[in-house]
Amino acid sequence: MLGAIEAGGTKIVCAVAPKEALTQIAERISIPTGTPQETMPKIIAFFKNYQIEAIGIGSFGPIDVDPSSPTYGFITNTPKLAWKHFDFLGTMKKAFAVPYFWTTDVNAAAFGELKHGSAVGNENCIYITVGTGIGGGVVLNGKVIEGKGHPEIGHIYINQLVHDSFEGNCPYHKNCLEGLAAGPAIEARAGKPAQNLAADNPAWELEAHYLAEACVNYTLSFSPEKIIFGGGVMKQAHLFPLVREKFTELLNGYLPISQVDQYIVPCALQDNAGIVGCLALAKETL
Ligand code: ADP
Ligand code: ZN
Repeated sequence: MLGAIEAGGTKIVCAVAPKEALTQIAERISIPTGTPQETMPKIIAFFKNYQIEAIGIGSFGPIDVDPSSPTYGFITNTPKLAWKHFDFLGTMKKAFAVPYFWTTDVNAAAFGELKHGSAVGNENCIYITVGTGIGGGVVLNGKVIEGKGHPEIGHIYINQLVHDSFEGNCPYHKNCLEGLAAGPAIEARAGKPAQNLAADNPAWELEAHYLAEACVNYTLSFSPEKIIFGGGVMKQAHLFPLVREKFTELLNGYLPISQVDQYIVPCALQDNAGIVGCLALAKETL
């Protein structure tokens, strides 16, 4: 059996699946993120019921992914204070001496989509979730990319449009992509939650423009074969044609992206992208 832990800001999902058929999840639990003292024993108790060969962990970040660092495997600078500087991977290793894959939740989701979702058959993809925040993972040549750290492509700066006077609400950068285009930014401008806005609300045009700018930047920086969107805001299916149209306009023929409707796409695994990705990453360690 393979194990998977998708650690999010509000809940932590654990799952086990056979390595021959890892999308056939045998059991899963969802635990409120709480504090490490409350939550880690529950995670460990769940896996104790199984003969686990390897575990993939996709965590909210930022996290330390540098194997040469003394704090490798730690969650680093999170506003969730109980988890700040917590040795997540080390705590798991003490409980189970198996191979681990340790990366971000969004890198795991990108890998899940590559192996079992919208990017099956590709080697290079980007996964972006547009929800309470904006986060993104990158897979190149079949591997999640990490350098000294990991990508944080939700926080890139983009060109704010002149008629948009919203100052942006990223706690670190104000008007980065997340600060201008995550769900709370849409809500702050409109005075009501994004899910309550009609499809013809001008907010969507603005949203599509910012997401298209981001897609151009990701295209120029990483050369993916697909850009895959997930998260609550992207449940607005009408956003996709708008984003593609503005993307084509902004890229202006510089690179040959021919079938844009197959390039900028919704995620196929929906809420399972992260956990399936963690299982697939666990399998990679064997
Ligand atoms: P989280 O990012 O916390 O994991 P979500 O991906 O559901 O959770 O993101 C929540 C954000 O997405 C909120 O700002 C909410 O207003 C927005 N949202 C949720 N559902 C929809 C929807 N159907 N249409 C547009 N926005 C939505
Ligand atoms: Zn930011």
